Amino acid sequence: MKTMDTLLVATAISLTASQAFGWGEDGHKAIWEVAQQRLTPAAKTRVDSILANDKLELTSVWLDLVRDVGKGKGGPLETDAEAIAFNQQFKYNATWHYVNLPLAAKSYDSAPEFHGIDNIVTQIRVANDVLAGKSNAMAQKAALRVLVHLVGDIHQPLHCSAGFFDISDKSQPLLCTEPSKCKILADQKCGDQGGNLLFFGPEKYDQLHAYWDSDAVYRVAPVGGLAHHLQKLAPTVKATTEGQPDTWPAQWASESVQIAAKAYEGLKFGRCSPPVDGKGLGPIGRIEVTLPPGYDDYSKKVAADQLTKAAMRLAFLLNGLFK
Ligand SMILES: [Zn+2]
Repeated sequence: MKTMDTLLVATAISLTASQAFGWGEDGHKAIWEVAQQRLTPAAKTRVDSILANDKLELTSVWLDLVRDVGKGKGGPLETDAEAIAFNQQFKYNATWHYVNLPLAAKSYDSAPEFHGIDNIVTQIRVANDVLAGKSNAMAQKAALRVLVHLVGDIHQPLHCSAGFFDISDKSQPLLCTEPSKCKILADQKCGDQGGNLLFFGPEKYDQLHAYWDSDAVYRVAPVGGLAHHLQKLAPTVKATTEGQPDTWPAQWASESVQIAAKAYEGLKFGRCSPPVDGKGLGPIGRIEVTLPPGYDDYSKKVAADQLTKAAMRLAFLLNGLFK
């Protein structure tokens, strides 16, 4: 990695360290900025009236900040009454940001045993129903913040997937490619948590997940220039989704897991170490991983495409909701 890249990534990480999951703050902000520019006048009026005076960066990462408060990590909403009440009402909102489908899953619908109770697909549907007036599950303002954030997250391929590993030989973990065997490994908690336990370097944030959240994004465009770059890309990206809007989140997750499967191709897995001090969900603390040559260029293209699709699809969804 070049010095300038290191600096940009370091900046990105310092901005997003508290978030740890999801496109970094810059990615979410750019998605929302571009989506808003693609709203119809009717949708824009409704969005503005629901959000009142939410700042751009608050709307798009509100759900990450709320989760941090729920996990006792503090942050800007630490004493915010709305965030505290939201965490009391939705104790498990930390699981809303992802779904850990096995990389070999053909689609979201084909792998129900990996869905969990609340996941990114179910929660986009809930937020959509609230905004459509079909549900009172939460306030409209919260629902819009949830929708804006999760439509971003669902396009980060590693938010819809996880690698499951046979670690009987700790020096050579084997990536599972068979969904039924992956389920056994998932039950043994032998998953990599969306790439959060795969480390390509010695530092805390040298995780494959963080690489896709931030490193790849900061290669797409320099800090502050991302929204402008995505706007330029939009006419070249095919973002339409077939079928009714309530089927879209499952289709987007299915697309993301296919992309994630490609993102794992060519990775070389090294030693598996147990969690430090016995802390951790399962037997895997970290697995060393080597990225193949050309991975930076490849991930940059994929991230640019996915960020642009997220922005365009968020606008399609809101324009359909608010006619
Ligand atoms: Zn998130």
